[in-house]
Amino acid sequence: MVRIDLHAHSAVSDGTDAPAALVRAAARAGLDVLALTDHDTTDGWSEAQAAGAEVGVRVVPGIEISTRADGHSVHLLAYYPDPTAEELCDELRRVLDGRWQRVPAMVARLRAAGIAIDVDAVLRHAANPEVVGRPHVADALVAAGAAQDRSEAFRRWLAPGRPGHLERYAADLTTMIGVVSRAGGVAVLAHPWGRTQAPYLTAERIAALAAAGLAGIEVDHEDHDPAARRALRGIAVELDLVVTGSSDHHGTGKTGHALGCNMTDPEEFARLMDRAATARLGSGRELPEEWSWTR
Ligand code: AMP
Ligand code: FE
Ligand code: FE
Ligand code: ZN
Repeated sequence: MVRIDLHAHSAVSDGTDAPAALVRAAARAGLDVLALTDHDTTDGWSEAQAAGAEVGVRVVPGIEISTRADGHSVHLLAYYPDPTAEELCDELRRVLDGRWQRVPAMVARLRAAGIAIDVDAVLRHAANPEVVGRPHVADALVAAGAAQDRSEAFRRWLAPGRPGHLERYAADLTTMIGVVSRAGGVAVLAHPWGRTQAPYLTAERIAALAAAGLAGIEVDHEDHDPAARRALRGIAVELDLVVTGSSDHHGTGKTGHALGCNMTDPEEFARLMDRAATARLGSGRELPEEWSWTR
């Protein structure tokens, strides 16, 4: 049985392993296929790909894009987009700028709440400051003694409604599905009924997204209980969407998300790759040779 995990983060965003170390950990976990899906960036792709070639793990290039729909935050997984597509780069740039601009404002709020923290203390925890986010603020809060670990930092300070929480720019969800398709990639809804999204992405809304080009739904994810998985699988079948499963691994930054804890059925993966090949042809774009599928 081919073991496939289609969602994992490296230290290029808010995971804790460098891309090569992440891929080696995937090999040790017995995975055959691992998608690197750092938030809003493709910066880790080449390092991960090179490591995958060494240890015999097929690395799928991906991005977990921060989007919004009707004011709701939705994470969109994109696989195989051309990372040089101008429209995609422009959108990701806006998201990254929003991440960057949010940090001083969050720090100011936390200082007002009495915590001795500054921007440098946050950036110290971000291996790639371009993709700085709340997890790095959480690390700084832990270092300042304001929380025991990332989870507690989110609960006390960074979750919606807490003193350090601030929204940031996110791309429009439906627009982004088009952008990904035009870049030759395929789009999959990440944990659609996860902690923050549950009430919004109804079957009707997912149907509209499918009409806009959505390729799949991440059904098997730790945020989904068995009932949610059954219901989402039903929606996917109804709409002819690909069903994926993944760990959403963040290294030691998030517990309960071990590599391979959820996996994607090989037949579903083959369907996703067919759709990616079709998108690629339709886009008239080419990915570099090292990303072609030979294994
Ligand atoms: P941001 O992108 O800066 O808004 O931060 C969101 C990220 O924080 C998500 O991608 C998760 O990786 C992480 N996150 C959210 N909630 C928690 C939590 N309770 N514990 C640890 N990490 C979390
Ligand atoms: Fe994350
Ligand atoms: Fe996510
Ligand atoms: Zn993720």
